[in-house]
Amino acid sequence: MKHDSFLLRNAQAVLTGKAGAEARSSACDIRVAGGTITEMGRGLKPKEGERVLDATDCVVYPGWVNTHHHLFQSLLKGVPAGIDQTLTPWLKSVPYAHRGGFDEAALRLAARVGMVELLLSGSTTVADHHYVYYPNMGFDPSAALFDEAEQLGLRFMLLRGGATQTRDAEAGAPAHLRPEKLDDMVSDVARATARWHRNGPRPMTRVAMSPTTITISLRTEELRPVARAARELGIPLHSHLSETVSYIEHCREAFDCLPLEYAERHEWVGPDVWFAHLVHLSEAERAILARTGTGMAHCPQSNGRLGSGVAPAPDLARRGVPVSLGVDGAASNEAADMLSEAHQCWLMHRAHAGAASRARPEGRGEEGADIVTVEDVVHWGSVGGARILGFEGVGALEVGAAADFAVYRLDEPRYMGLHDPAIGPVVSGSRPHLKWLLVDGRIVVEDDAIPGLDMDRMRAEARTAVKRLAGL
Ligand SMILES: [Zn+2]
Repeated sequence: MKHDSFLLRNAQAVLTGKAGAEARSSACDIRVAGGTITEMGRGLKPKEGERVLDATDCVVYPGWVNTHHHLFQSLLKGVPAGIDQTLTPWLKSVPYAHRGGFDEAALRLAARVGMVELLLSGSTTVADHHYVYYPNMGFDPSAALFDEAEQLGLRFMLLRGGATQTRDAEAGAPAHLRPEKLDDMVSDVARATARWHRNGPRPMTRVAMSPTTITISLRTEELRPVARAARELGIPLHSHLSETVSYIEHCREAFDCLPLEYAERHEWVGPDVWFAHLVHLSEAERAILARTGTGMAHCPQSNGRLGSGVAPAPDLARRGVPVSLGVDGAASNEAADMLSEAHQCWLMHRAHAGAASRARPEGRGEEGADIVTVEDVVHWGSVGGARILGFEGVGALEVGAAADFAVYRLDEPRYMGLHDPAIGPVVSGSRPHLKWLLVDGRIVVEDDAIPGLDMDRMRAEARTAVKRLAGL
């Protein structure tokens, strides 16, 4: 598809996604050509053939990069059986109870709903940890997911999940709960890698080897061969880890060590590895992450929803651990958009830092309000995420980078009176009017609308699908 040329002018503020002093740009004009940002400054004049985008009263953010999702769960929000459950019973009563209902049409619809929700929040890259794979399933979920993302214009990374063993007895399990054979799983990842994995600059599609939960989904002797197969293919590694205290207890009982020690022992650490959650970590495990450059997909809303805890993202970031943001699946996060995630992230760590502890039940003076800044959250949610996923040339709002950015118009009452409009989208919560969203220099959202998408039809299809899934 041809790239258009744009000149965005007169933005009120521009956040870059970079850390520290470079987090804000002094530019108010951004020139885009050939899919990249070619110039930033003040008072730029339009060139012949350029479309001018008037960003007066708008703030510009780098496109959000979501590093952990389960898009199929976008039709499993607020399932009554799991609404007040913690992770383990919730897994049984929500995602696992319904996974048999996801034929190709349902998966495509769920993925579309989830991607549209993300697009409308200003997300430009989505990494989907899809783990509903089983023998003889009759369609190719990976192809369906990449196709839906391509139609919407998103950058998409498949985190190819799956299991070679299940939590429960396998005898008599229905087909959709049966595990895969290791060789079948690895060869399917190799096939997906050949078809969709692209290296930089500005790749639109990538793949990661991502068995669902390494402490549960694979046999111990399979961990090392899986890690080596991924490294041979040149793709990164991803999995769930240390989401709840039960993970730690299981690991101690089964392997006589902590989850990150287990990961390190079996070559599952390094700058090409990132884990979702990492809520419960010992001092020694934090040191392993920092020493090896192993990354984190921080999912504060899902961790809150399931009562899992508050992950030590600020502490890990201070130690130099790569931190990114993920929304996790919508079955454990009924607000699976990146702005909502960023808002909660910003609030949750402050509340946590100022809360009383068992050691100091009455609290201690006043503290916590500077533990995470808006600039930190934006950095984790853009540049941090793109680095972890390996999208070269993507993430930052700077000259030479991919033109992936959101232009928010802060015209709702909740944004009136802001002394620093740049922070509005994160601190005020809710979703501002999305004037434009660009991915690779193409407009994929304009005035909160996605060109070519029939929202009424999608809404009706989602209602019908929920009725069907609820009856399963
Ligand atoms: Zn997850």
